[in-house]
Amino acid sequence: MVNSEIVNKFIGEQLAEWQTAADNFEALKGVKVKELDVDGMKIKVQFNPARIVSSAAKVDAKSLAERKCFLCAANRPSVQRGIEWGNGYIILINPFPIFPRHLTIPDVNHVDQLIKGRIADMMNLARDLDGYTVFYNGPKCGASAPDHMHFQAGNSDFLTISEAVENAELKTVATDGDAVLAVCDTLPLNVFVIDAEDAEAGQRLFSRLYDAIPVPEGEAEPMMNLLCYATPAGVRLVVIPRKKHRPSFYGTEGDDKMLLSPASVDMGGVFITPLEKDFNKLDAEIVKTIFDELCLDGAAVEEIVNKIK
Ligand SMILES: [Zn+2]
Repeated sequence: MVNSEIVNKFIGEQLAEWQTAADNFEALKGVKVKELDVDGMKIKVQFNPARIVSSAAKVDAKSLAERKCFLCAANRPSVQRGIEWGNGYIILINPFPIFPRHLTIPDVNHVDQLIKGRIADMMNLARDLDGYTVFYNGPKCGASAPDHMHFQAGNSDFLTISEAVENAELKTVATDGDAVLAVCDTLPLNVFVIDAEDAEAGQRLFSRLYDAIPVPEGEAEPMMNLLCYATPAGVRLVVIPRKKHRPSFYGTEGDDKMLLSPASVDMGGVFITPLEKDFNKLDAEIVKTIFDELCLDGAAVEEIVNKIK
């Protein structure tokens, strides 16, 4: 069975044989980090120039059709090996890391990035990779390969949202056996939390939430970022519903623009800035504006809760 010990050893092996990845992981040790307090939640900001490939990724249909998918086995560098996991996934190291231990876990097939029916997989993966947070970026919520289903994972101690949720008030919305779906509306961003020991029960609760979140016109699923990690009682899934892809000031041209394309990691408490000027500029007020622009407000969350109850 795959576990975090096996995966940690695998990361070491890949870094010993893959120079580009090794260089990028090494460079990570020198990146600048600063800390902000956003309404009581600790937010880290990381200046990470190598991430420009992701933050500036063109994810429109035409650009996707014209590029070779970097998650398909046929296009991956031959040095990039993987560990097979579960029902048709492969665990790879991410050669453009944010975390000291950063994985990408694509489906072996080139199928669209859609979460429906995959929550039990996500929860089981988080359980197997104890010490990692497994995360999912919706196709319009930060995924740089929205045409190829994939999870990512990084060492859990890096993100701050788990601690914020742990210390926040959770209000139960629904239960399924021992599994609980709760809402947390006291953080600077509104989230839902599912605690489950049984991944199937967790999946059922998620489906009820999924069905209650409005789907924007033209989208295949509700916009969301998901983070999932093992707890002493099972696994915890943090669901961050979104209403917008990128902040109004997204861009590179003009002093008022910032190259920020928030995904699960940013929503999880670590903002990634590929440009140094953005790193210097980003403060608690801007982070709060980003949360307000991209996440659901209290009224929208209440509507979802009422639909489920
Ligand atoms: Zn692909």
